[in-house]
Amino acid sequence: MKKIYTLLFLLLALTTLGACKNASAASQNILETAKESKQIVWGVKNDTKLFGLMDISSREVKGFDIDIAKAITEEILGRDGNAVFVEVTSKTRIPLLKNGNIDAIIATMTITDERKKQVDFSNVYFDAGQSLLVAKGSAITSVKDLTSANTVLVVKGSTSAENIRKAAPDAKVLEMENYSEAFTALQAGQGDAVSTDNAILLGMASENDHYQLVGGTFTNEPYGIAINKGQKDFLDAVNKALSDLHANGTYDKIYDKWFPNDDSGKAE
Ligand code: GLU
Repeated sequence: MKKIYTLLFLLLALTTLGACKNASAASQNILETAKESKQIVWGVKNDTKLFGLMDISSREVKGFDIDIAKAITEEILGRDGNAVFVEVTSKTRIPLLKNGNIDAIIATMTITDERKKQVDFSNVYFDAGQSLLVAKGSAITSVKDLTSANTVLVVKGSTSAENIRKAAPDAKVLEMENYSEAFTALQAGQGDAVSTDNAILLGMASENDHYQLVGGTFTNEPYGIAINKGQKDFLDAVNKALSDLHANGTYDKIYDKWFPNDDSGKAE
């Protein structure tokens, strides 16, 4: 019996220590640590075409968020600075940041007052808006057409999941873990539409010609880089890097690489 208590105590002590280590990682001066280690650890999407998508053959994540993260890393740490990428989903990104597993989130994340209670945000680096993706020929032409007969696919932890309930209160909502699951479910007929940011839906539409965006946008989704509270030095450095990237033309170059035919997401 005594042995069990000792074991339990040890286990408890170890878990507490583990939690402290991570919590203290999040409260260190991230800018200083990044300069010492010559790296910034970014939480990014791995399943979102145009923003953060894992290229299976090269094992590299590619997209607008990735290129912006690399450019900010270079601005802050110089040419030999390393941008390290860790996969997040809409649901896991804030917990991973708060636990100190990542230094910043750059993952199609809308700046909202609710989220500002938990994290700080950089200036806006992309402007999106929520829309709908449906099969070509669908009777749904805008959010107003959604009735109790329709199922809308969204992703857990996203603003889209909340917004759709207000915009189409009668429709059924099915919450998936990530965007590749949501699009697969749409193609399998598990729902009538996927609803999220127009730019994310554009990426899906580009993969399968049978689907299209309808009805324009019905919310504003300004994207920001999320950083832990109490990291003013790092936040200032990220904002300075962003404005330098605008001034030296790098932002426009990256934007045009990923969205050559659409200026609507360009941040000032
Ligand atoms: N921009 C929206 C959000 O932050 C939807 C995209 C996403 O799930 O990341 O929730």
